[in-house]
Amino acid sequence: MKRAVFPGSFDPVTLGHLDIIERALPLFDEIILAIGINLDKKYMFSLEERVRFLEETFKGESKIIVKTYNGLTVDFCVKEKAAFILRGLRNTIDLEFEKTIGQTNYRLAGIETVFLISSPGKSHISSTVVRDIKKHGGDYSILVPDAVPNK
Ligand code: ADP
Repeated sequence: MKRAVFPGSFDPVTLGHLDIIERALPLFDEIILAIGINLDKKYMFSLEERVRFLEETFKGESKIIVKTYNGLTVDFCVKEKAAFILRGLRNTIDLEFEKTIGQTNYRLAGIETVFLISSPGKSHISSTVVRDIKKHGGDYSILVPDAVPNK
């Protein structure tokens, strides 16, 4: 069973995440969308909302499971028997950031990170931009799946 964990804050899930997840589906038997809980971080959407947006977006997709976790991503992968971490790359800043984490996770637990480069036209999308637009009362519907309310 090829199982991957796609870790993130998903605050909120965007069409950029969707792009990576949908293109990764043929590569794995199961993908766990894993929302990491970081008590030091302030989120715009509650944990319950972020779980609900993911579940609604992928309802009917039997290969996708939504979970939350505390602590190290590699510890969660070991617990879930997932040999792979999935991450998306938008640009060289993402690459530099992800490189050391991926190398460290491999040394810590032998877990390989599989990187997919965002599709053309998707690399400008980020949860940060969605949150900024929301904060200023703007319309962010072209950046998120239908499950995320636009107001
Ligand atoms: P984190 O807080 O861990 O960065 P995010 O929810 O922001 O979590 O992102 C989770 C993953 O999705 C990361 O690998 C990130 O690079 C990827 N990602 C986010 N937006 C895009 C996008 N537009 N194209 C490709 N990958 C993306």
